[in-house]
Amino acid sequence: MKKRILIAALSVTIIGILLLSLLFIDLFYRSAVDSAEKQLRTYMNFFDASAPFTQETAEALAEKTVTARVTFMEADGTVVADSFAEVEGQTREDRAEVRAAIAEGEGYSVRESDTVKKNMVYYCVRMDELGGVLVRIGIPLDSEIAFFVDALPSIIWFLVMDILCCLVFAWLATSAIVKPVEQLTREFATSSGGVKTKYPELKPLAKMMNQMNADIGDKVARIKEDNRIEKLVLDSMEHGIVIFRGPSDLILINKTAAQLLSYEENEPIALFSEDGEIAELLASEESASLYRKFGEKDYNLRFTMGDPNVLLITDVTESMAAARSKNEFIANVTHEMNTPLTSIKGFAELIYAGAVPPERIQGMAKTIIKQSDRLANLIRSIINFSAIDSDELPDYEVDVSELIAELIGGFEPKLRKKDISLKINVEQGVKVMSRRERLVEILNNLISNGIRYNKEGGVLEVSLTGGARPCLTVRDTGIGLSEEDKTRIFDRFYTVDKSHNGGGGGFGLGLAIVKKLCRRAGWELKVESTLGEGTAFIIEFCSDQQLKS
Ligand code: ADP
Repeated sequence: MKKRILIAALSVTIIGILLLSLLFIDLFYRSAVDSAEKQLRTYMNFFDASAPFTQETAEALAEKTVTARVTFMEADGTVVADSFAEVEGQTREDRAEVRAAIAEGEGYSVRESDTVKKNMVYYCVRMDELGGVLVRIGIPLDSEIAFFVDALPSIIWFLVMDILCCLVFAWLATSAIVKPVEQLTREFATSSGGVKTKYPELKPLAKMMNQMNADIGDKVARIKEDNRIEKLVLDSMEHGIVIFRGPSDLILINKTAAQLLSYEENEPIALFSEDGEIAELLASEESASLYRKFGEKDYNLRFTMGDPNVLLITDVTESMAAARSKNEFIANVTHEMNTPLTSIKGFAELIYAGAVPPERIQGMAKTIIKQSDRLANLIRSIINFSAIDSDELPDYEVDVSELIAELIGGFEPKLRKKDISLKINVEQGVKVMSRRERLVEILNNLISNGIRYNKEGGVLEVSLTGGARPCLTVRDTGIGLSEEDKTRIFDRFYTVDKSHNGGGGGFGLGLAIVKKLCRRAGWELKVESTLGEGTAFIIEFCSDQQLKS
């Protein structure tokens, strides 16, 4: 800006000075012409009309004036005598001053003389008393250009001085103008508060700056708040997110990802270089999905390569466990089905081939029926187990005391067979919110286990207490459970004694069903057991909304 002001000021003054110089030169020149004309009139007075109209008279007149050229001409402009050159006989009637004198009695002209080769001022007078002869006197006068050339050193000197002065004054002036603006800008950039100025011309600017400052402040605050919320959202996500351009060029990492990848601020992510597969992937810049274990958990690492690259880390422990459990389940079911099916098929083929003596056929048929029952039981248990997840039927009040009394009779033959004495310790009228078939499933499983894993001549005790927390206990004096088995008996297809399989033992689904039903109902299921002494399964019907007594 300063530069532009300086250039403008300089241009204006230089042009001004040049124009002024030309004007003055013109004025000087005009005044010089005027005074030359006056001088010529004076010289003309020196002309003696009585003197002969000859070369000598012309030269004498010229001598009187020192520098003048005197020309005598006939009335038609033919030169009679000339003090400067021998031009007698030549005509000068075409010269402006001569023409004017012939026509009007006198005439002036300023021009370059062909004869003298100088700029001359001529004054010509018609001498009527001498028969109209013409007397012309001319004196040299510098041309306008010569005037300019003469004045040029002064003009240049003046211009230089002017430029210097102009530079100084323009610099001071622009500084004075620009300084408050600069001060305002500096204040705007550094101070967090508003800017002020004492100059009224700058007040609208200061007002605008303050407005802008306020707007920017608002925007910055909003951006900060947005960033804070964004960070909050990202950090509270259970998924890990990393946005990056390269292993050491990290744009964003959320809390979960930072924890999983043990990220240290301003350090590259170690996994990106230490894990060969990931390093290769980053080098190839291809999107891919990998699985990695961090601690006890399984994670899916989905790399979406682009500009920038995005890594999404998802905890897939549960889905992987579910997939594993599904595979295990299928393997277990297949295994459990295979044993009875093999035996049924084997015996049926033998009978069909007629290779079995008639007295053994009945025994074989009995085995086939037993194995078929076992297979049917397995299928029923699997159906029951799976049905729990989709069971959305509404609960209603079930009298558990009554249900125990109803069911227990069905176990008499088995109890008798093992000589087990039954103790019923049931408080009457204990009701819970559930469905009859669910409680039947639970009671059947616990009571039949209490008989199956009891000792010959043992005791089976079924207790039910009411009150705020109704509680069912099925206790036996059977083989008991080791500490390890206590934690595993609720797993699907888990049986302590594997030799039971294919024989009289179950499939390891009963307690899994009991556990699933209790968990869905919000009841607490506990097991207390001492190896060789006996086991107790306790259910506390503790879900508040389902409690009834
Ligand atoms: P199963 O049909 O094999 O009995 P469960 O799921 O009911 O399947 O039981 C799983 C395993 O837990 C059984 O195989 C058994 O080893 C053990 N178990 C269950 N109840 C008792 C009990 N009352 N006493 C000792 N062990 C038991």
